Amino acid sequence: MNKKVFLCGLHQESNSFNPVLATYESFRRLRGDELITLGKDAGYTIFGMVEGLSTYGITPLCGSYLNAGSGGSIDAAVYESFMGETLADIKKAGKLDGVLVELHGATLSNQSDDVCGDILEAIRNLVGEDVVISASCDLHAKVTEKMAKNADFISGFQAYPHIDLYETGKRAAEVLCAKMGGKNLKMARVSLPVIAPAHGYTTTAGNLKTLMEKGFLLKKEGTIFDFSIFQVQPWLDSPDVASSVLVIADDEERAKTVATDLALEEFSIRKELQGQALLTIEEVIQKALANKSGKPIVLVDSADSSNAGACGDSAAVIEALLPYQNVLKAAVDVKDAPAAEKAFSLGVGAVADFTLGATLALELSKPVLVKNAKIKSLHEGSFERFGPQAKGNICRIGKTAVLEVGKLLIHVSANAQANGDLNFYRGFGIDPLAQQLVNIKACTSFRAGYEPVSEEICNTSTPGAAGTVLKDLPFKNRPVPLYPFEAITEQDITEPKCYR
Ligand SMILES: [Zn+2]
Repeated sequence: MNKKVFLCGLHQESNSFNPVLATYESFRRLRGDELITLGKDAGYTIFGMVEGLSTYGITPLCGSYLNAGSGGSIDAAVYESFMGETLADIKKAGKLDGVLVELHGATLSNQSDDVCGDILEAIRNLVGEDVVISASCDLHAKVTEKMAKNADFISGFQAYPHIDLYETGKRAAEVLCAKMGGKNLKMARVSLPVIAPAHGYTTTAGNLKTLMEKGFLLKKEGTIFDFSIFQVQPWLDSPDVASSVLVIADDEERAKTVATDLALEEFSIRKELQGQALLTIEEVIQKALANKSGKPIVLVDSADSSNAGACGDSAAVIEALLPYQNVLKAAVDVKDAPAAEKAFSLGVGAVADFTLGATLALELSKPVLVKNAKIKSLHEGSFERFGPQAKGNICRIGKTAVLEVGKLLIHVSANAQANGDLNFYRGFGIDPLAQQLVNIKACTSFRAGYEPVSEEICNTSTPGAAGTVLKDLPFKNRPVPLYPFEAITEQDITEPKCYR
């Protein structure tokens, strides 16, 4: 296919309750052909886009790509800089046939509740109505009307844990090429006022799996071209937060009908999506003490998950474990740059008191004093991900110290991320499988690695910006009604709409 396609992206998941602004330094930045070479190594969605295009004989013109882990809202300067480069690149590229954009879909800035909508609108305004724009998003995207108005197509991850980044990029490229090749495809959008904590569901089991399978079957039968079901990231305190369904088909009415059907189904499982009641930290400790299987009990500290945009700096679990330091083998982690720095200044083998935690989100947890901790090891802080998600990807987490207090091993790093990967502990000399209890600051991503090797996974009630009890979080700008805060009916589901 002889078509000219421009490729770019900005990927970050924001959490309104994380007070730390994500600045330019938080982002990994790729330019030009680096999108192809480094995007492949990093396992980014853009690489699926590149390969998807290559099956049609298209090599994209590559612009800028920014990728950061989840965190607080982004500094508007990041958006301005990205947009400045992107619009200049597109102007320089001349007449285009298509644009592919990798987005997260739940990105806020200190000036906008809809960064992804702003990006798509700015690109649309520049390229005009005839150029096909196709974007990819995370399953946790907040797909707004502005996004759907300005993109021809949006393709979301269909798996949670997100093991389909590459495939999603390919789908976004495929629908773009189909449209550029003359296929008359329409995308319908339906949104519903439902949020759910990310620990509450997965696409590997339960009703969300069944719902996804329904979509896959419709695609396989040829009823629709593609579909995405978005269970929005719930820690977005913005007036347009909602879950949504997008359906792409070669018939507008069919796209609308299927989108409504799938949204009704998502509505019907809204209660299950909220997840099971959580255990207390103490209850999980008691389980670990009683467990004789030889396999660890996993304490899921999802409220402080950096994957969900929390700070990762809560020491609440450490505090609860301290009284058991001589009887329970446990591994726990905390993001605490000053403490890691202090450990480096003291050196391996030194014994000291450490105050851990609450260095970033000062209002969400409190610092904990750990007495007589021995500095077991020090690391410059990188590890290779075990996977399956982002297998082989190198994670840089800054200066890292392992502190030992009795049988308790505390992983202290400047910039913890990918906490749910088995090598997050292994890479620093801690064998998670040799513990009775392992603390993991992640929502669901860790399950693919940990489920097969653990005795039990315990979703636990802990403090943090990704708090699992949504009603306890200080929402100020959310819409009303919004489930689970208010009861909703089928009437609260929007009418299906094709915008283009
Ligand atoms: Zn996600």
